[in-house]
Amino acid sequence: MRGTSPSEEQVRADAGAWIAEHWDPDRSLLEWRRLLAESGWAVPSWPTRWHGRGLPAWADRAVADELRAAGAVGTPLGSGMSLAAPTILEHGPDELRQQILWPTITGEVTWCQLFSEPGAGSDLAGLTTTAVRDGDDWVVNGQKVWNTSAHHADYGMLVARTNWDVPKHAGISYFVLPMRQEGVEVRPILQMNRHSSFNEVFLGDARIPAGNLVGTEGDGWRVARTTLMHERTFATMRRPSFPGAAGRAVDEAAAEAAEHFATYAWYPQRAGRADLVIDEARRRGRHHDPVVRQAIADLVAFRSASEWTAARAQAARRLGRAPGPEGSLGKLAASEVARRSARVHALIAGAAALLREGAHDNDATIAEVLVSTPAQSIAGGTDEIQHNIIGENVLGLPREPAADRGIPFREVLR
Ligand SMILES: Cc1cc2nc3c(=O)[nH]c(=O)nc-3n(C[C@H](O)[C@H](O)[C@H](O)COP(=O)(O)OP(=O)(O)OC[C@H]3O[C@@H](n4cnc5c(N)ncnc54)[C@H](O)[C@@H]3O)c2cc1C
Repeated sequence: MRGTSPSEEQVRADAGAWIAEHWDPDRSLLEWRRLLAESGWAVPSWPTRWHGRGLPAWADRAVADELRAAGAVGTPLGSGMSLAAPTILEHGPDELRQQILWPTITGEVTWCQLFSEPGAGSDLAGLTTTAVRDGDDWVVNGQKVWNTSAHHADYGMLVARTNWDVPKHAGISYFVLPMRQEGVEVRPILQMNRHSSFNEVFLGDARIPAGNLVGTEGDGWRVARTTLMHERTFATMRRPSFPGAAGRAVDEAAAEAAEHFATYAWYPQRAGRADLVIDEARRRGRHHDPVVRQAIADLVAFRSASEWTAARAQAARRLGRAPGPEGSLGKLAASEVARRSARVHALIAGAAALLREGAHDNDATIAEVLVSTPAQSIAGGTDEIQHNIIGENVLGLPREPAADRGIPFREVLR
């Protein structure tokens, strides 16, 4: 197959020509995205049968570049395109692919991830939310938590227990849950940084059509691992910009992005804002202090090394390789950058780092860094869990002992 793939140059030229002919900012955003999806250029790496062009993975980035260069709008941001769609593409079934991939590409529906529970985060396979088959539906009862964007999602990627009489990993199934129904109650959580981007989700006799089972019954753990793999290697979200472009589609895309980024406004601060440390040291007159200088140099060096690791992971993905150990290393490095950045900001600003309402714009940002960075080493799998993954999967160390392996979940002490 490799020999028959067109070159990147050819793909860019073909996509560029199509965009030049069809991009019209005065269309509605929906009309434009439908046209883009019909052409196969929205996600060219997807199979032709599912709105793509069957091209290698690098083609998605190449075409996204071409769209950006033309000031044209691409696919929607968020967990629909980055997590839900790749999972459903991989595991099916066809009827669900048919029904759900199209409105996800066009942005007509948005998504959230309903994995974590009060008693099942790191040990996700210990989840107790239960789905029971009832005629043509599954009926779900339980509670999820920390669910980003659940307050405005149309669908949830849900993992639920469908069999309590087999070992814990074997009794889980993966569903697409319609969120807008009576049995689903979403309650926003107020965070210590005053944002409210995630929620508790209570499921009381929520109903899911039988056709919304992803993969097969009892195979949900394998399906969930696909979603988690994509989550661990998910690149930083870039805010779209359309320099020099104007028109209805552009305005609607800007409004869509504004709503999306309202949820994620604190994510740059969560990552530590290492980019601000040198300016902050100068602004506060701390740049001659040898201890501050040493801390900044240490942070900048570590950050550069981790960016190169991330670049290697990206290059591997561009070549169509499966997300590998680099994903786990990158996640761990991002936590360390966030932690070190918060420490350096505190070293530079002293107690004033806690003040939100200072005279300078950066004051509120630095205060937000200090109360947001802890989330970096929890979201998408904690640092300790990443250490376990690297130990077991990369270094080949013995597996962590587990008392609940191999026995029916019903008999596991909780
Ligand atoms: C910003 C953010 C967004 C999130 N978005 C979502 C979302 O959209 N959907 C969703 O479902 N969830 C989401 N989560 C939840 C996230 O996946 C969980 O918080 C995470 O998996 C950890 O689970 P927990 O909070 O239950 O901690 P626990 O699993 O209870 O862990 C508590 C502590 O024990 C440690 N620990 C646990 N097990 C082990 C072990 N085996 N070895 C060593 N140490 C261990 C952990 O590292 C941690 O320090 C989000 C979290 C954050 C912070």
